[in-house]
Amino acid sequence: MFKLDGKVAIITGGSRGIGAACAEAMAEQGAHVVVNYVRGEDKAREVAERIIAKGGKAEIAGFDVADSEATEKAIEGIAKKHGRLDIMVANAGIAIDGLLLRLKDEDLQKLFDTNVRGALACARAATRPMMKARTGRIIFVSSVIGEMGNVGQTAYAATKAALLGITKSIAREYASRNVTVNAIAPGFIETDMTHGMNDAMKEYVLKNIPLARVGTAKEVAAAALYLASDEAAYVTGQVLRVNGGMYV
Ligand code: NAD
Repeated sequence: MFKLDGKVAIITGGSRGIGAACAEAMAEQGAHVVVNYVRGEDKAREVAERIIAKGGKAEIAGFDVADSEATEKAIEGIAKKHGRLDIMVANAGIAIDGLLLRLKDEDLQKLFDTNVRGALACARAATRPMMKARTGRIIFVSSVIGEMGNVGQTAYAATKAALLGITKSIAREYASRNVTVNAIAPGFIETDMTHGMNDAMKEYVLKNIPLARVGTAKEVAAAALYLASDEAAYVTGQVLRVNGGMYV
């Protein structure tokens, strides 16, 4: 089950955290994975080398998803080189937190450029080869915050909620071409993004997680693997929550 032999997958922000876990999980199931990075080429290379050392197939590709033109060009090039593109995981994302009264327009712009426009550029470029092949999987990485909101995360929540509307719309648009589009909404996952949280905040969050622990990047990757697989062929326009029951 969940075999991806012969498939090509692009994972944006694949050099660490959830993206790296997705790349490793998909490569383990036989996919050729393209690990995107924007900074930290070394880390992306390490992910690819780990995959190759285990007998998997991987390459790295540097592009900034906030630069739509460069992103679309890079994705087009990858699809052309391999003659196919089966899986697009739009995972790259940033968080800039702050109370509404202190929210700066430039931060809002940065968040939307990366989390929303970036994800859209990836999906737009990926749908072209997928439509032609009449098969494909697009997976957006949203967040529990996009569904339930959070103090100090208005702007981040807006970007992650936007991804849910985008998922449902693109799912309807490309269903006739057999391209499925789904979102994953992770809860509190132990990665570099959450390392910065202070202990009081962590304690508060943990109190609100019925499974009483933080999640792992591997647990999110397992959801992405399922959505990417043939077994999920009849699943589209859905939000798969990986949140320990934090939001039900
Ligand atoms: P992370 O900060 O470790 O990883 C984010 C990755 O995105 C990094 O590799 C970063 O370099 C890359 N990235 C950022 N801007 C980019 C750009 N412009 N172009 C290309 N790559 C870019 O954090 P993570 O926790 O692994 O986050 C992955 C995704 O999961 C994000 O979209 C995040 O919002 C989402 N998420 C995380 C959590 C969590 O608790 N960690 C919860 C819900 C959702």
